[in-house]
Amino acid sequence: MTGAAKRQPAGTTGTTTTTGAAKRPVPRPKPPPRPVRPTPPPPSADSALPLPKLLTARLHAVKVRPYLADALFALRVVEDRSVPTMAVDPYWRCYVSPAFVARTPVEELAGVWVHEVSHLLRDHHARGERYAREHEAHGPGEPLRRNIAADFEINDDIYGDGLPRPAGAVHPELLDLRADLLMEEYLRTASLSGLTSDLAWLDCGSGADGRVRPWDLGPGGAFGLSRQQRDAVRFRVAEGIRGRPGTAPDGWRRWADEAFHPPQPWRRLLGAAVRSAASAPGVGENHTYRRPSRRSAAVPGVVLPSLRRTPPRVCVVIDTSGSVSDAELGSALLEVAAISRAVGGRRDLVSVISCDAAAGIAVPLCRAEGIELIGGGGTDLRSGFARALRTRPRPDVIVALTDGQTPWPSAPPPCRTVVGLFPRPPRAQDKEDPGYVPEGPPAWARVVTIG
Ligand SMILES: [Zn+2]
Repeated sequence: MTGAAKRQPAGTTGTTTTTGAAKRPVPRPKPPPRPVRPTPPPPSADSALPLPKLLTARLHAVKVRPYLADALFALRVVEDRSVPTMAVDPYWRCYVSPAFVARTPVEELAGVWVHEVSHLLRDHHARGERYAREHEAHGPGEPLRRNIAADFEINDDIYGDGLPRPAGAVHPELLDLRADLLMEEYLRTASLSGLTSDLAWLDCGSGADGRVRPWDLGPGGAFGLSRQQRDAVRFRVAEGIRGRPGTAPDGWRRWADEAFHPPQPWRRLLGAAVRSAASAPGVGENHTYRRPSRRSAAVPGVVLPSLRRTPPRVCVVIDTSGSVSDAELGSALLEVAAISRAVGGRRDLVSVISCDAAAGIAVPLCRAEGIELIGGGGTDLRSGFARALRTRPRPDVIVALTDGQTPWPSAPPPCRTVVGLFPRPPRAQDKEDPGYVPEGPPAWARVVTIG
């Protein structure tokens, strides 16, 4: 999930540039500068990418926006002459026009780096696709509207402090809109259609709006970051910003707080799950959980849980199917870290299973360098549950982190189950087919909402 991210000074307009006069007068008392179509590349067919200049620009970006350094260095440069300026894809590739780099000043290029990486950190492609699903906005002009709204979200406060504002920056002032909204809010509150003809050249790539471009190398191509790597970069940037208050502006701090929401109270959830497991028929073999703790003798009438003395063994099944976003997987990793803390830091008691249509092996947390989340296909968590129950020693609690769009085991597993749900609106087909009843998590699971 993500929700949302917002603001801060950094970046610049990805697509921006240079010169020219406004195409049409703006009927407003104080017109902001009109976006300007980038100057077309010079005819020299074989201009090579001035890579040192591009990398110098990235270093400048790192210098003036140090809290984005991990993300800036994670972008993979792909030279492509068909790209108008610079554009990103969801796999953290940055497609670069050699002619654009050649004609753009270094400081302005630094702004483009920050702008492009902001699209990816803020998860604009997934958020844009989600917005389109929820609002059934699938018309031909929609990707451009999403790109404009995403640029509004990024560009309203990124200039200054070493990043000059380029002439063609797409900015909420163009429509007299407030400067601190999110992409979704711009899409909801403004039609943006008055801008689309002026901004037909605007193209920040599929990483900004989710629409695949001709130059995209796709999920399997070279140079792309894996899901795990993408999660790790976003997580490191957010942790860095939260860990050093004062270094990043408000908008990025809000992003860091919201991109990875606070984890669930796992100590309580697991404690409750294990206590009720102990009293459930047939699953109470572990007497430890029945026995009141010693301190309860001193507190008449109160039975304290014994969880701290005998923490439960937890197997976390993470839904890695294609419908779960990178940001949600990032949240899932946070929950796993919180679960590990809840069992007293006993990483040996926690294992993780990636599961899309098929389940991966159970990886004990104590042996995982970083947790590798593999998936991207359809969803069937039943295989994840089966795999969890085959692990030895058997888990006391299964935690499933999922968007819920999966078949569930028909019978309750012989241990307690907590389902952490990534919230989803009703799917389009649910609305179209009145006879279709989406299958919620089963009654035997304790359900909490993540995010
Ligand atoms: Zn952009």
